[in-house]
Order: sequence, then structure tokens, then C-alpha cells
Amino acid sequence: MTVTVDTRKWSEGRVVERYRWAERLYSLRVEAEIEPFEAGQFGRLGLVVGDRFVSRPYSYVNAPDERPLDFYFIVIPDGVLTPRLARLQPGDSVWVARRAAGLFTLGQVPEGRHLWLLATGTALGPFLSILKTGTPWRRFEKIVLVHGVRTRAELAYWDTIESFRRAHGDRLRFFASVTREPCPGALPMRITQAIESGELERRAGLEIRPEDSQVMICGNPDMVRDTVALLKRRGLRENLRKQPGQITTERYW
Ligand SMILES: Cc1cc2nc3c(=O)[nH]c(=O)nc-3n(C[C@H](O)[C@H](O)[C@H](O)COP(=O)(O)OP(=O)(O)OC[C@H]3O[C@@H](n4cnc5c(N)ncnc54)[C@H](O)[C@@H]3O)c2cc1C
Repeated sequence: MTVTVDTRKWSEGRVVERYRWAERLYSLRVEAEIEPFEAGQFGRLGLVVGDRFVSRPYSYVNAPDERPLDFYFIVIPDGVLTPRLARLQPGDSVWVARRAAGLFTLGQVPEGRHLWLLATGTALGPFLSILKTGTPWRRFEKIVLVHGVRTRAELAYWDTIESFRRAHGDRLRFFASVTREPCPGALPMRITQAIESGELERRAGLEIRPEDSQVMICGNPDMVRDTVALLKRRGLRENLRKQPGQITTERYW
């Protein structure tokens, strides 16, 4: 059976690069014609699998004006799409949704002095897209980026983070949280423990507090839930359309 893909909604993209960071971690760089998007939003990647069209959401890692499109993903061993995405080679085609979606953008984040960006695993992606734009640097005095991973090999996009440090000096504080093996300089604990123990704020030299902090949290739903609960105990509130707060979240599953 031939599967027809709706080309009004889907653009046929070309893989220009497949980069492997670690055993199950890949970046897929794709040329495709899509509508403008905002940093922090996600697109969708799709493939025809047997007799059906399968698509999943993926955050853009590239800035809105940057090409190729850049997607950072982890292979779920028995997942439907990701093992197939990981086998794509330069020149192969992959469907990309023409229109991006999502409200995990700075446009949804109220004013503050300090911006805390907390990610697990591949959820680093939307923060890189945001940090590649001028907006966070115009709006916030200090930005703290935390990337939670299990092993050092999973600390991807190191060079991109270094380029932010070169451009913005100590306005950016970056912390890796590496839980399953020693990693010099990294927080040897989960993001939640690093907040609960005060270690993250000690190292950052800043406090997470309702008066001047905005916190964006992305990734593993357990981490998002637990971190939100912790921050609420400190007086921060979820940022809702009707009632602005300090915590903005996105869950990856
Ligand atoms: C808004 C949004 C943005 C997303 N952006 C990204 C992204 O940039 N990169 C990315 O890798 N994934 C991202 N995801 C998850 C992605 O859409 C898929 O769920 C994932 O790639 C698995 O697809 P699959 O078909 O291989 O697995 P499926 O057969 O659909 O299995 C899904 C299961 O895989 C696990 N899982 C899904 N995503 C992850 C993950 N990132 N890390 C660890 N376990 C996971 C969960 O247990 C989930 O129930 C995003 C999800 C949402 C909702």
C-alpha cells in the first residue's frame, strides 16, 4: 500500500548530516522548507513506516534564522521512530512539519533578572535555540543553564555552550549534572538534589527566588514534576496564561 503524505502540512526534507554524540544520542541536520518558528518551539519529524506515516515532536536546536534545521534525539531501543531516524544518512529524505508548535518560548516568560534553564538529556535543545538568539541576553542579567545527564559522553553540544561563554562571559553560568559516573567540575547529583541541597545556587552565586527569577524546565516528566514541586515550596508559581508566575515547563513524554 502506498502511503500519501499531505504536502500542505509536510515538507520533504533532506538529511545533510547525521552526527553521533554517544551510543544512543544523535543530531540530525536537515534542509527543509518550513514556516518561521520561535526559539524554544518544536517541529515534527515523520517517516513512512510500513503502511503508515509516523511522526513525533522534536525541538529545534537551531536558532530561527539558522540553517540547516538541527534536531537532537535519543534512540528509544524499542521506539517506533527513533531507531529509524538514527539510520538515516546524508541525502535521505525525512518529512518535516511545515508549521512549528509549542509555547515553551521566551515570549511566554514574564520579566525577571535571572533566567534558570534546567534540562535533562535531549531537552537541552530548545535552550540552545533560545540562547542562540539575542532575546535572553537583552532581557536577563544572568542566565544559568543546567544539563542533567547520566554519563559524561552524554554532554553534547559542548562547543555551542562554549561559544555562548565566549560571547557573554560570566553572564552565563553552565553546570552539568552527571549522575552515574564521576565528571570533574560537574554536579555529582540530579538537578532536583542540586536545588534541594542548595549546591546549584552556591555554585551559581545566585538564589532561585520569586522576586527576580524565571525558571524554564524541560525534559523528563519526573524531573519536571519534582522540580516544580520543589520550587513551589520556595514560593515560585507556575506560569499560567491567566496568572503569570516564575515556572515555565515542557515535558517530553
Ligand atoms: C514537545 C515535545 C518535544 C520533544 N522534543 C524532543 C527532542 O528534541 N529530542 C528527543 O529525543 N525527544 C523529543 N521528544 C520526544 C519524542 O517526540 C519521541 O517521544 C521520542 O523520540 C520517542 O519516539 P519513538 O517513536 O522512537 O518512541 P515511542 O515508541 O513513541 O516511545 C515513547 C517512549 O519513549 C520514551 N522517551 C521519549 N522521549 C524520550 C527522551 N527524549 N528521552 C528519554 N526517553 C524518551 C518514553 O518512555 C516514551 O513513553 C519531544 C516530545 C515532546 C512532547
